[in-house]
Amino acid sequence: MTREIKTMKRTTLAIAISTTFLTVPAFADGHLMVSDTPLTLDAHMHFGRREYDPNWPVELEAQRLTGVTLNNVTVDNTTNGRKAFEWMITGTGLPDIVGGVHLKDNINRFGPEGAFLSLDELIAAHAPNIYAQMQANPEVFNSVRAYDGELYFVPYLTDGKYGRAYFIRQDWLETLGLEAPDTVDELYAVLTAFRDGDPNGNGLQDEVPAFFRHWQEALRLVTFWDGRTSGSDTYHDFHVVDGEIRHGYAGEGYREGIAHIAKWYAEGLIDPELFSRGTSSREFMLENNLGGFTHDWFASTASYNDSLAESIEGFSLQAMLPPASISGVRMAEHRRTPIRPEGWGISYSNPNPVETIKYMDFWWSEEGRRLANFGIEGQHYTLVDGKAVFTDAVLGNERPVNSQMSDIGAQVQRGFWQDYSYEEQWTNEHALRGIALYDSGDYLVDQFLGVSFNQEEQAIYDRHWVAIQTYMLDKQRSWVLGETDVNAEWDSYQAALESLGLSKVLNAMQSAYDRQYGE
Ligand code: CA
Repeated sequence: MTREIKTMKRTTLAIAISTTFLTVPAFADGHLMVSDTPLTLDAHMHFGRREYDPNWPVELEAQRLTGVTLNNVTVDNTTNGRKAFEWMITGTGLPDIVGGVHLKDNINRFGPEGAFLSLDELIAAHAPNIYAQMQANPEVFNSVRAYDGELYFVPYLTDGKYGRAYFIRQDWLETLGLEAPDTVDELYAVLTAFRDGDPNGNGLQDEVPAFFRHWQEALRLVTFWDGRTSGSDTYHDFHVVDGEIRHGYAGEGYREGIAHIAKWYAEGLIDPELFSRGTSSREFMLENNLGGFTHDWFASTASYNDSLAESIEGFSLQAMLPPASISGVRMAEHRRTPIRPEGWGISYSNPNPVETIKYMDFWWSEEGRRLANFGIEGQHYTLVDGKAVFTDAVLGNERPVNSQMSDIGAQVQRGFWQDYSYEEQWTNEHALRGIALYDSGDYLVDQFLGVSFNQEEQAIYDRHWVAIQTYMLDKQRSWVLGETDVNAEWDSYQAALESLGLSKVLNAMQSAYDRQYGE
Protein backbone atom coordinates (compact mmCIF):
# COMPACT_ATOMS: atom_id res chain seq x y z
CA MET A 1 0.00 0.00 0.00
CA THR A 2 2.68 2.45 1.07
CA ARG A 3 4.83 1.42 -1.87
CA GLU A 4 1.95 2.10 -4.26
CA ILE A 5 1.49 5.58 -2.87
CA LYS A 6 5.19 6.30 -3.17
CA THR A 7 5.26 5.11 -6.77
CA MET A 8 2.26 7.27 -7.53
CA LYS A 9 3.94 10.30 -6.02
CA ARG A 10 7.03 9.74 -8.06
CA THR A 11 4.97 9.63 -11.22
CA THR A 12 3.22 12.85 -10.29
CA LEU A 13 6.57 14.45 -9.61
CA ALA A 14 7.94 13.30 -12.95
CA ILE A 15 4.98 14.87 -14.72
CA ALA A 16 5.43 18.06 -12.74
CA ILE A 17 9.12 18.23 -13.62
CA SER A 18 8.44 17.74 -17.30
CA THR A 19 6.03 20.68 -17.15
CA THR A 20 8.93 22.90 -16.13
CA PHE A 21 10.44 22.76 -19.56
CA LEU A 22 7.20 23.91 -21.12
CA THR A 23 6.97 26.99 -18.90
CA VAL A 24 10.60 28.12 -19.01
CA PRO A 25 10.39 30.18 -22.21
CA ALA A 26 7.98 32.62 -20.57
CA PHE A 27 10.85 33.71 -18.31
CA ALA A 28 13.57 33.74 -20.88
CA ASP A 29 13.22 37.34 -22.06
CA GLY A 30 15.80 38.63 -19.60
CA HIS A 31 13.67 41.43 -18.16
CA LEU A 32 14.80 40.50 -14.65
CA MET A 33 18.52 40.71 -15.46
CA VAL A 34 20.20 43.24 -13.17
CA SER A 35 23.50 43.46 -15.00
CA ASP A 36 24.59 43.20 -18.66
CA THR A 37 27.44 40.95 -17.67
CA PRO A 38 27.33 38.13 -15.12
CA LEU A 39 28.03 39.44 -11.63
CA THR A 40 29.25 37.55 -8.58
CA LEU A 41 28.70 38.99 -5.11
CA ASP A 42 30.25 37.63 -1.93
CA ALA A 43 27.56 36.94 0.66
CA HIS A 44 27.52 35.99 4.31
CA MET A 45 24.16 34.31 4.87
CA HIS A 46 23.75 33.20 8.44
CA PHE A 47 20.64 31.08 8.82
CA GLY A 48 21.39 29.67 12.26
CA ARG A 49 20.91 25.93 12.35
CA ARG A 50 20.03 25.83 8.68
CA GLU A 51 22.98 25.81 6.34
CA TYR A 52 22.83 28.28 3.48
CA ASP A 53 23.24 26.45 0.21
CA PRO A 54 24.07 28.37 -2.99
CA ASN A 55 22.89 25.29 -4.93
CA TRP A 56 19.34 25.41 -3.68
CA PRO A 57 17.07 25.21 -6.75
CA VAL A 58 15.62 28.60 -5.79
CA GLU A 59 19.09 30.18 -5.71
CA LEU A 60 20.01 28.70 -9.07
CA GLU A 61 16.77 29.97 -10.59
CA ALA A 62 17.41 33.45 -9.21
CA GLN A 63 20.89 33.30 -10.66
CA ARG A 64 19.50 32.32 -14.07
CA LEU A 65 16.91 35.11 -14.04
CA THR A 66 19.05 37.94 -12.67
CA GLY A 67 22.56 37.10 -13.82
CA VAL A 68 23.78 37.50 -10.23
CA THR A 69 25.59 34.70 -8.45
CA LEU A 70 26.05 34.76 -4.70
CA ASN A 71 29.42 33.43 -3.65
CA ASN A 72 28.88 31.87 -0.24
CA VAL A 73 31.44 33.21 2.21
CA THR A 74 29.33 32.58 5.31
CA VAL A 75 31.37 32.72 8.46
CA ASP A 76 30.77 29.99 11.01
CA ASN A 77 27.18 29.12 10.18
CA THR A 78 26.84 26.55 12.90
CA THR A 79 27.16 28.69 16.00
CA ASN A 80 25.76 31.91 17.35
CA GLY A 81 24.95 34.39 14.59
CA ARG A 82 25.93 37.42 16.61
CA LYS A 83 29.38 36.02 17.28
CA ALA A 84 29.90 35.26 13.60
CA PHE A 85 28.81 38.79 12.78
CA GLU A 86 31.25 40.41 15.17
CA TRP A 87 34.06 38.20 14.00
CA MET A 88 33.35 39.22 10.45
CA ILE A 89 33.24 42.92 11.35
CA THR A 90 36.51 42.83 13.27
CA GLY A 91 38.28 40.12 11.34
CA THR A 92 38.36 39.50 7.65
CA GLY A 93 36.41 42.51 6.45
CA LEU A 94 32.90 42.52 5.08
CA PRO A 95 31.54 40.63 2.09
CA ASP A 96 29.34 42.50 -0.42
CA ILE A 97 26.12 41.26 1.17
CA VAL A 98 25.48 40.40 4.81
CA GLY A 99 22.27 38.55 5.47
CA GLY A 100 20.36 36.07 7.53
CA VAL A 101 19.07 35.77 11.06
CA HIS A 102 19.95 37.99 14.05
CA LEU A 103 20.68 40.73 11.57
CA LYS A 104 18.81 43.79 12.77
CA ASP A 105 20.60 44.63 16.00
CA ASN A 106 24.06 44.17 14.53
CA ILE A 107 23.43 45.92 11.26
CA ASN A 108 21.78 48.85 13.04
CA ARG A 109 24.73 49.03 15.38
CA PHE A 110 27.46 48.98 12.73
CA GLY A 111 25.52 50.72 9.95
CA PRO A 112 25.68 54.19 11.49
CA GLU A 113 29.40 53.62 12.08
CA GLY A 114 29.86 53.25 8.34
CA ALA A 115 29.99 49.48 7.85
CA PHE A 116 26.81 49.33 5.77
CA LEU A 117 25.21 51.52 3.15
CA SER A 118 22.07 53.48 3.97
CA LEU A 119 19.49 52.13 1.55
CA ASP A 120 16.77 54.78 1.25
CA GLU A 121 18.15 56.53 -1.81
CA LEU A 122 19.26 53.32 -3.48
CA ILE A 123 15.81 51.82 -3.00
CA ALA A 124 13.99 54.93 -4.21
CA ALA A 125 16.13 55.07 -7.34
CA HIS A 126 16.61 51.40 -8.24
CA ALA A 127 14.25 49.14 -6.31
CA PRO A 128 10.66 49.93 -7.31
CA ASN A 129 9.18 46.80 -5.77
CA ILE A 130 10.72 47.32 -2.33
CA TYR A 131 9.96 51.04 -2.58
CA ALA A 132 6.28 50.34 -3.21
CA GLN A 133 6.08 48.30 0.01
CA MET A 134 7.91 51.00 1.96
CA GLN A 135 5.37 53.51 0.74
CA ALA A 136 2.51 51.19 1.65
CA ASN A 137 3.85 50.30 5.13
CA PRO A 138 6.05 53.15 6.36
CA GLU A 139 5.47 52.44 10.07
CA VAL A 140 6.52 48.82 9.64
CA PHE A 141 9.73 49.75 7.82
CA ASN A 142 10.43 52.55 10.30
CA SER A 143 10.48 49.98 13.09
CA VAL A 144 13.69 48.46 11.69
CA ARG A 145 15.53 51.73 11.06
CA ALA A 146 18.70 52.43 13.03
CA TYR A 147 18.95 55.13 15.69
CA ASP A 148 20.10 57.64 13.09
CA GLY A 149 16.83 57.13 11.19
CA GLU A 150 18.46 55.33 8.26
CA LEU A 151 17.45 51.98 6.82
CA TYR A 152 20.44 49.64 6.60
CA PHE A 153 18.83 46.40 5.54
CA VAL A 154 16.11 45.02 3.33
CA PRO A 155 13.91 43.16 5.80
CA TYR A 156 11.97 39.96 5.66
CA LEU A 157 8.40 41.23 5.50
CA THR A 158 6.01 38.62 6.83
CA ASP A 159 2.39 37.98 5.87
CA GLY A 160 -0.63 36.62 7.75
CA LYS A 161 -1.95 37.64 11.16
CA TYR A 162 -2.37 34.65 13.37
CA GLY A 163 0.29 32.47 14.91
CA ARG A 164 -0.52 30.31 17.90
CA ALA A 165 -3.89 29.44 19.37
CA TYR A 166 -5.29 27.49 22.29
CA PHE A 167 -6.29 23.99 21.25
CA ILE A 168 -8.39 21.52 23.22
CA ARG A 169 -9.45 17.91 22.74
CA GLN A 170 -13.06 18.44 21.66
CA ASP A 171 -13.78 14.70 21.75
CA TRP A 172 -12.57 14.52 25.36
CA LEU A 173 -14.92 17.37 26.28
CA GLU A 174 -17.79 15.48 24.68
CA THR A 175 -16.82 12.21 26.38
CA LEU A 176 -16.96 13.95 29.75
CA GLY A 177 -20.10 15.96 28.92
CA LEU A 178 -18.26 19.31 29.10
CA GLU A 179 -18.27 22.50 27.06
CA ALA A 180 -15.17 24.31 25.79
CA PRO A 181 -14.01 26.49 28.69
CA ASP A 182 -14.91 30.14 28.40
CA THR A 183 -13.09 31.57 31.42
CA VAL A 184 -9.95 30.77 33.35
CA ASP A 185 -12.05 29.16 36.11
CA GLU A 186 -13.81 26.96 33.59
CA LEU A 187 -10.45 26.02 32.09
CA TYR A 188 -9.25 24.94 35.52
CA ALA A 189 -12.37 22.79 35.95
CA VAL A 190 -11.93 21.22 32.50
CA LEU A 191 -8.25 20.41 33.03
CA THR A 192 -9.10 18.87 36.38
CA ALA A 193 -11.77 16.74 34.70
CA PHE A 194 -9.25 15.69 32.03
CA ARG A 195 -6.91 14.59 34.82
CA ASP A 196 -9.54 12.67 36.80
CA GLY A 197 -12.14 11.52 34.30
CA ASP A 198 -10.12 9.14 32.08
CA PRO A 199 -11.22 10.81 28.83
CA ASN A 200 -8.90 8.59 26.78
CA GLY A 201 -10.80 5.63 28.20
CA ASN A 202 -7.90 3.28 28.96
CA GLY A 203 -8.72 2.92 32.65
CA LEU A 204 -5.50 4.65 33.65
CA GLN A 205 -5.01 8.13 35.08
CA ASP A 206 -2.38 8.85 32.46
CA GLU A 207 -3.75 12.02 30.86
CA VAL A 208 -1.56 15.13 30.76
CA PRO A 209 -4.22 17.86 30.80
CA ALA A 210 -2.01 20.73 29.55
CA PHE A 211 1.20 20.21 27.58
CA PHE A 212 3.43 22.57 25.64
CA ARG A 213 5.90 21.90 22.84
CA HIS A 214 7.82 24.98 23.93
CA TRP A 215 7.89 25.46 27.72
CA GLN A 216 7.66 29.21 27.22
CA GLU A 217 4.08 28.69 26.02
CA ALA A 218 3.05 27.52 29.50
CA LEU A 219 3.97 31.01 30.69
CA ARG A 220 1.32 32.48 28.37
CA LEU A 221 -1.20 31.28 30.94
CA VAL A 222 -0.24 34.33 33.02
CA THR A 223 -2.37 36.35 30.60
CA PHE A 224 -5.39 34.67 32.26
CA TRP A 225 -4.45 36.64 35.38
CA ASP A 226 -3.76 39.78 33.32
CA GLY A 227 -0.01 39.24 33.26
CA ARG A 228 2.20 39.43 30.17
CA THR A 229 5.11 37.39 28.89
CA SER A 230 6.13 39.25 25.72
CA GLY A 231 5.06 42.04 23.41
CA SER A 232 6.42 40.41 20.28
CA ASP A 233 6.93 37.00 18.76
CA THR A 234 10.25 36.76 20.64
CA TYR A 235 9.90 35.10 24.02
CA HIS A 236 10.46 37.19 27.17
CA ASP A 237 10.40 40.45 25.21
CA PHE A 238 9.32 43.87 26.42
CA HIS A 239 5.84 45.19 25.68
CA VAL A 240 4.27 48.62 25.44
CA VAL A 241 1.32 49.99 27.41
CA ASP A 242 0.11 53.44 26.35
CA GLY A 243 3.50 54.38 24.98
CA GLU A 244 5.35 53.08 28.04
CA ILE A 245 7.89 50.26 27.81
CA ARG A 246 7.36 47.55 30.39
CA HIS A 247 8.52 44.05 31.06
CA GLY A 248 5.92 41.42 31.85
CA TYR A 249 8.10 39.58 34.33
CA ALA A 250 8.10 42.58 36.64
CA GLY A 251 4.30 43.07 36.63
CA GLU A 252 1.65 42.26 39.22
CA GLY A 253 -0.46 40.07 36.95
CA TYR A 254 2.64 38.01 36.33
CA ARG A 255 3.02 37.29 40.02
CA GLU A 256 -0.54 36.08 40.33
CA GLY A 257 -0.28 34.15 37.07
CA ILE A 258 2.92 32.37 38.05
CA ALA A 259 1.42 31.50 41.45
CA HIS A 260 -1.48 29.79 39.66
CA ILE A 261 0.73 28.08 37.09
CA ALA A 262 2.74 26.67 40.01
CA LYS A 263 -0.49 25.49 41.61
CA TRP A 264 -1.67 23.85 38.38
CA TYR A 265 1.73 22.28 37.93
CA ALA A 266 1.70 20.89 41.48
CA GLU A 267 -1.77 19.48 40.91
CA GLY A 268 -0.70 17.59 37.81
CA LEU A 269 -2.64 19.76 35.36
CA ILE A 270 0.53 20.79 33.49
CA ASP A 271 3.03 18.35 32.01
CA PRO A 272 5.41 17.36 34.82
CA GLU A 273 8.21 17.29 32.22
CA LEU A 274 7.38 20.77 30.95
CA PHE A 275 11.00 21.94 31.00
CA SER A 276 12.63 18.71 29.93
CA ARG A 277 10.43 16.97 27.40
CA GLY A 278 11.57 19.01 24.44
CA THR A 279 10.03 19.95 21.15
CA SER A 280 8.73 16.48 20.32
CA SER A 281 6.26 16.76 23.20
CA ARG A 282 3.33 17.74 20.99
CA GLU A 283 3.82 14.73 18.77
CA PHE A 284 4.27 12.45 21.79
CA MET A 285 1.25 13.76 23.70
CA LEU A 286 -1.10 13.63 20.74
CA GLU A 287 0.04 10.41 19.12
CA ASN A 288 -0.20 8.60 22.46
CA ASN A 289 -3.62 10.08 23.17
CA LEU A 290 -2.42 11.70 26.38
CA GLY A 291 -2.57 15.48 25.97
CA GLY A 292 -5.72 17.59 26.29
CA PHE A 293 -4.87 21.28 25.94
CA THR A 294 -2.04 23.30 24.44
CA HIS A 295 -1.00 26.57 22.85
CA ASP A 296 0.68 26.15 19.49
CA TRP A 297 0.65 27.15 15.83
CA PHE A 298 -2.67 26.94 14.00
CA ALA A 299 -1.75 25.00 10.89
CA SER A 300 0.65 22.42 12.24
CA THR A 301 -1.42 21.70 15.37
CA ALA A 302 -4.68 21.33 13.47
CA SER A 303 -2.94 18.96 11.05
CA TYR A 304 -3.02 16.21 13.72
CA ASN A 305 -6.77 15.94 13.03
CA ASP A 306 -5.77 14.49 9.67
CA SER A 307 -2.70 12.50 10.64
CA LEU A 308 -4.31 10.84 13.70
CA ALA A 309 -7.80 10.36 12.25
CA GLU A 310 -7.27 6.65 11.69
CA SER A 311 -5.15 5.74 14.70
CA ILE A 312 -7.22 7.48 17.42
CA GLU A 313 -10.95 7.01 17.05
CA GLY A 314 -12.88 10.26 17.20
CA PHE A 315 -9.72 12.37 17.62
CA SER A 316 -10.70 16.03 17.48
CA LEU A 317 -8.30 18.79 18.50
CA GLN A 318 -9.96 22.15 17.98
CA ALA A 319 -8.96 25.76 18.42
CA MET A 320 -10.74 27.59 21.21
CA LEU A 321 -10.78 31.29 22.02
CA PRO A 322 -8.45 32.48 24.73
CA PRO A 323 -10.43 31.99 27.96
CA ALA A 324 -11.50 35.24 29.61
CA SER A 325 -9.02 36.40 32.25
CA ILE A 326 -9.96 37.25 35.85
CA SER A 327 -10.81 40.74 34.61
CA GLY A 328 -12.68 39.44 31.57
CA VAL A 329 -10.00 40.06 28.92
CA ARG A 330 -9.47 37.51 26.16
CA MET A 331 -5.95 37.98 24.91
CA ALA A 332 -4.17 36.28 22.03
CA GLU A 333 -0.72 37.44 23.13
CA HIS A 334 1.10 35.78 20.27
CA ARG A 335 0.64 36.78 16.66
CA ARG A 336 2.75 36.88 13.58
CA THR A 337 4.96 39.90 13.63
CA PRO A 338 4.62 42.07 10.50
CA ILE A 339 8.36 42.32 10.01
CA ARG A 340 11.31 40.19 11.00
CA PRO A 341 14.78 41.21 12.21
CA GLU A 342 16.14 39.18 9.30
CA GLY A 343 17.03 40.27 5.82
CA TRP A 344 20.16 41.54 4.13
CA GLY A 345 22.31 44.63 3.93
CA ILE A 346 24.98 45.99 1.58
CA SER A 347 28.44 46.55 2.99
CA TYR A 348 30.35 49.81 2.48
CA SER A 349 33.00 48.07 0.39
CA ASN A 350 30.57 46.55 -2.12
CA PRO A 351 31.67 47.97 -5.52
CA ASN A 352 28.25 47.29 -7.11
CA PRO A 353 25.62 48.80 -4.83
CA VAL A 354 23.19 49.59 -7.67
CA GLU A 355 23.27 46.07 -9.08
CA THR A 356 23.04 44.67 -5.56
CA ILE A 357 19.91 46.60 -4.65
CA LYS A 358 18.41 45.65 -8.03
CA TYR A 359 19.17 42.02 -7.21
CA MET A 360 17.52 42.41 -3.80
CA ASP A 361 14.54 44.06 -5.48
CA PHE A 362 14.18 41.04 -7.77
CA TRP A 363 12.97 39.04 -4.75
CA TRP A 364 10.12 41.55 -4.33
CA SER A 365 9.08 41.48 -7.97
CA GLU A 366 6.12 39.35 -8.96
CA GLU A 367 8.33 36.56 -10.30
CA GLY A 368 10.97 36.79 -7.56
CA ARG A 369 8.38 36.86 -4.80
CA ARG A 370 6.78 33.72 -6.18
CA LEU A 371 10.19 32.08 -6.38
CA ALA A 372 10.97 33.00 -2.76
CA ASN A 373 7.60 31.76 -1.54
CA PHE A 374 6.64 28.82 -3.72
CA GLY A 375 9.77 27.54 -5.46
CA ILE A 376 9.95 26.91 -9.16
CA GLU A 377 7.02 27.28 -11.52
CA GLY A 378 5.95 24.00 -13.07
CA GLN A 379 7.89 21.99 -10.55
CA HIS A 380 6.58 23.20 -7.19
CA TYR A 381 3.67 25.35 -8.25
CA THR A 382 1.58 26.29 -11.26
CA LEU A 383 -0.13 29.56 -11.98
CA VAL A 384 -3.92 29.36 -11.74
CA ASP A 385 -5.76 32.61 -12.49
CA GLY A 386 -2.54 34.47 -11.75
CA LYS A 387 -2.08 32.81 -8.36
CA ALA A 388 0.64 30.33 -7.42
CA VAL A 389 -0.87 26.98 -6.49
CA PHE A 390 1.32 24.18 -5.17
CA THR A 391 1.50 21.07 -7.33
CA ASP A 392 -0.02 17.80 -6.13
CA ALA A 393 3.52 16.51 -5.77
CA VAL A 394 4.21 19.14 -3.12
CA LEU A 395 0.82 19.04 -1.38
CA GLY A 396 0.71 15.24 -1.39
CA ASN A 397 4.25 14.74 -0.16
CA GLU A 398 4.71 13.16 3.27
CA ARG A 399 7.09 15.97 4.24
CA PRO A 400 5.36 19.15 5.46
CA VAL A 401 5.21 21.87 2.81
CA ASN A 402 7.24 24.31 4.90
CA SER A 403 10.04 21.73 5.21
CA GLN A 404 9.93 21.03 1.49
CA MET A 405 10.20 24.75 0.77
CA SER A 406 13.12 25.13 3.13
CA ASP A 407 14.82 22.17 1.40
CA ILE A 408 14.80 24.00 -1.93
CA GLY A 409 15.67 27.45 -0.55
CA ALA A 410 12.17 28.96 -0.53
CA GLN A 411 10.80 30.61 2.64
CA VAL A 412 14.30 31.20 3.99
CA GLN A 413 15.28 34.38 5.79
CA ARG A 414 16.60 36.49 2.99
CA GLY A 415 15.13 39.96 2.60
CA PHE A 416 11.87 38.99 0.93
CA TRP A 417 8.15 39.57 1.09
CA GLN A 418 6.25 36.55 2.31
CA ASP A 419 2.96 35.50 0.77
CA TYR A 420 0.61 33.92 3.34
CA SER A 421 -1.20 31.98 0.63
CA TYR A 422 1.86 29.72 0.62
CA GLU A 423 0.70 28.49 4.02
CA GLU A 424 -3.04 28.81 3.55
CA GLN A 425 -2.93 26.15 0.85
CA TRP A 426 -1.92 23.42 3.27
CA THR A 427 -3.80 24.76 6.27
CA ASN A 428 -6.63 22.31 6.91
CA GLU A 429 -10.30 23.08 7.49
CA HIS A 430 -9.88 22.79 11.28
CA ALA A 431 -7.18 25.45 11.34
CA LEU A 432 -9.09 27.73 8.96
CA ARG A 433 -12.16 27.42 11.20
CA GLY A 434 -10.00 28.28 14.20
CA ILE A 435 -8.53 31.30 12.44
CA ALA A 436 -12.06 32.48 11.59
CA LEU A 437 -12.95 32.08 15.28
CA TYR A 438 -10.00 34.23 16.37
CA ASP A 439 -10.87 36.70 13.63
CA SER A 440 -14.40 37.10 15.00
CA GLY A 441 -13.25 39.34 17.84
CA ASP A 442 -10.56 41.77 18.86
CA TYR A 443 -8.18 39.45 20.69
CA LEU A 444 -4.79 40.41 19.28
CA VAL A 445 -2.64 42.86 21.19
CA ASP A 446 -0.40 45.54 19.70
CA GLN A 447 3.04 44.34 18.78
CA PHE A 448 6.24 45.79 20.12
CA LEU A 449 8.37 45.91 16.99
CA GLY A 450 11.60 46.65 18.84
CA VAL A 451 13.91 49.63 19.06
CA SER A 452 17.30 50.60 17.70
CA PHE A 453 19.68 51.79 20.40
CA ASN A 454 22.16 54.59 20.13
CA GLN A 455 25.60 53.81 21.55
CA GLU A 456 24.80 55.02 25.06
CA GLU A 457 21.58 53.02 25.28
CA GLN A 458 23.27 50.01 23.77
CA ALA A 459 25.96 50.14 26.44
CA ILE A 460 23.37 50.19 29.23
CA TYR A 461 21.46 47.32 27.70
CA ASP A 462 24.62 45.27 27.14
CA ARG A 463 25.81 45.90 30.68
CA HIS A 464 22.61 44.82 32.45
CA TRP A 465 20.13 42.90 30.38
CA VAL A 466 21.61 39.43 30.16
CA ALA A 467 22.02 39.19 33.93
CA ILE A 468 18.48 40.49 34.51
CA GLN A 469 16.90 38.06 32.08
CA THR A 470 18.91 35.13 33.42
CA TYR A 471 17.74 35.96 36.93
CA MET A 472 14.11 36.35 35.78
CA LEU A 473 14.13 32.96 34.07
CA ASP A 474 15.88 31.21 36.97
CA LYS A 475 13.31 32.48 39.46
CA GLN A 476 10.46 31.72 37.09
CA ARG A 477 11.46 28.09 36.72
CA SER A 478 11.99 27.66 40.43
CA TRP A 479 8.53 29.09 41.16
CA VAL A 480 6.76 26.97 38.55
CA LEU A 481 8.48 23.80 39.77
CA GLY A 482 7.47 24.65 43.35
CA GLU A 483 11.05 24.88 44.60
CA THR A 484 10.34 28.36 45.94
CA ASP A 485 7.21 30.47 46.30
CA VAL A 486 6.59 33.50 44.10
CA ASN A 487 4.41 35.28 46.65
CA ALA A 488 6.96 34.81 49.41
CA GLU A 489 9.81 36.01 47.22
CA TRP A 490 8.12 38.76 45.24
CA ASP A 491 9.49 41.73 47.19
CA SER A 492 13.05 40.44 47.21
CA TYR A 493 12.68 39.57 43.52
CA GLN A 494 11.67 43.14 42.71
CA ALA A 495 14.54 44.52 44.78
CA ALA A 496 16.99 42.23 42.99
CA LEU A 497 15.69 43.33 39.56
CA GLU A 498 16.21 46.93 40.61
CA SER A 499 19.75 46.35 41.83
CA LEU A 500 20.56 44.45 38.62
CA GLY A 501 19.57 47.58 36.69
CA LEU A 502 16.05 46.96 35.37
CA SER A 503 15.05 50.64 35.66
CA LYS A 504 18.16 51.66 33.73
CA VAL A 505 17.37 49.21 30.96
CA LEU A 506 13.71 50.30 30.84
CA ASN A 507 14.80 53.95 30.62
CA ALA A 508 17.21 53.16 27.79
CA MET A 509 14.48 51.23 25.99
CA GLN A 510 12.06 54.10 26.56
CA SER A 511 14.33 56.78 25.12
CA ALA A 512 15.03 54.57 22.09
CA TYR A 513 11.31 53.86 21.74
CA ASP A 514 10.35 57.55 21.96
CA ARG A 515 12.93 58.43 19.30
CA GLN A 516 11.74 55.67 16.98
CA TYR A 517 7.97 55.91 17.41
CA GLY A 518 7.31 59.27 19.08
CA GLU A 519 5.32 61.94 17.27
CA1 CA B 1 -6.61 7.44 30.89
